[in-house]
Amino acid sequence: MVYHRSIRLGENFYCYVWIGRGNNCNSILLCNVLRGERPHVLIDPGHIRNELGELCFDSLNRVVEENGFKMENVGLVIGTHSHPDHFEAVAAVVEKSGALAALSREEDEFYRHVGKMFFSAFGAEPPQVNPLFYLKEGDLSLGAKDKLAIKVLLTPGHSPGSISLYLEEEKILVSGDVVFFGSVGRTDFPGGSPSLLRKSIDRLSQLDVEYLVPGHSTEVGNIISGKQKVERNFHMVKMFI
Ligand SMILES: [Zn+2]
Repeated sequence: MVYHRSIRLGENFYCYVWIGRGNNCNSILLCNVLRGERPHVLIDPGHIRNELGELCFDSLNRVVEENGFKMENVGLVIGTHSHPDHFEAVAAVVEKSGALAALSREEDEFYRHVGKMFFSAFGAEPPQVNPLFYLKEGDLSLGAKDKLAIKVLLTPGHSPGSISLYLEEEKILVSGDVVFFGSVGRTDFPGGSPSLLRKSIDRLSQLDVEYLVPGHSTEVGNIISGKQKVERNFHMVKMFI
């Protein structure tokens, strides 16, 4: 079964929006950006299997394949944060492809000390993830001749080391669980902070964004498209926090 809807936002940018009944995150594939034989970058691979038994990772593999790519050719896997519904399949991706894993230092520390416990609470195994490098606030350029320029923003609040990824040229913002359509990330999990979330949302709202790709779709199967809609959404969600 395929529970992901594929939306292509640019030459190298595919969103895999989760449309299953249970919980899982949206995933993103940046295809053909790295040098070498494993040129793809995968952001937030999500669950392996969710609370309803939907085979999330299997579905992701299938949709990636339908688009003409292979999980085996992922060279880098990025986690916006370490919650199970974003991070569980990271080790599975690494196992399939030998990809390098990356997240923020803050989130890695949180994961080692506290975040792992989420997994047992959800009845899942915490993946063994050894990040090769840490994603820091600032510019990250990937591939030959800086093929893809990404701005990494540390946006804590939902989780202490949550990152958002901004593709300035394409005006695409990948927000993880900081902001959704009509709502914001929960702050009642360990490590959550409403005041930090508010600051993070303020920062993100200042970017020039045409496509907002949230960690989950509150409007089924969709991302937030169009500058006006994105601006209105920021305006609305700021009233909640
Ligand atoms: Zn989360």
